[in-house]
Amino acid sequence: MKKEIRKLVFDKYDGRCAYCGVELDFKTFQVDHFKAQIWDKLEGKQPDGSLDNLMPACAECNRYKAEWNIEVVREWLEKSKKQLLKTQNLRILHRLGGFVISDEPIKFYFEK
Ligand SMILES: [Zn+2]
Repeated sequence: MKKEIRKLVFDKYDGRCAYCGVELDFKTFQVDHFKAQIWDKLEGKQPDGSLDNLMPACAECNRYKAEWNIEVVREWLEKSKKQLLKTQNLRILHRLGGFVISDEPIKFYFEK
């Protein structure tokens, strides 16, 4: 990928991960295809390399999202919130305020 395009992607959310909002390092940030290339290929299309489809991401979010649709990822994260509270020590910690799980629906950084 050309450095100029990488720079445009990096600047899209002011140098932050489009998903979690963590500050990114220009040298190591990853470029995620919002609609993964595999879906375009399966539909017999050229992968969408437009700036609209390219998202700056940290390695963790990029790995977690992988080729999935963002709504699937959101669903996993919502389920994870419920799973965490099934763990006794996290439930107690949550009650004590040492571990906060918001009741607000998951919003990704690019949606804020
Ligand atoms: Zn991230």
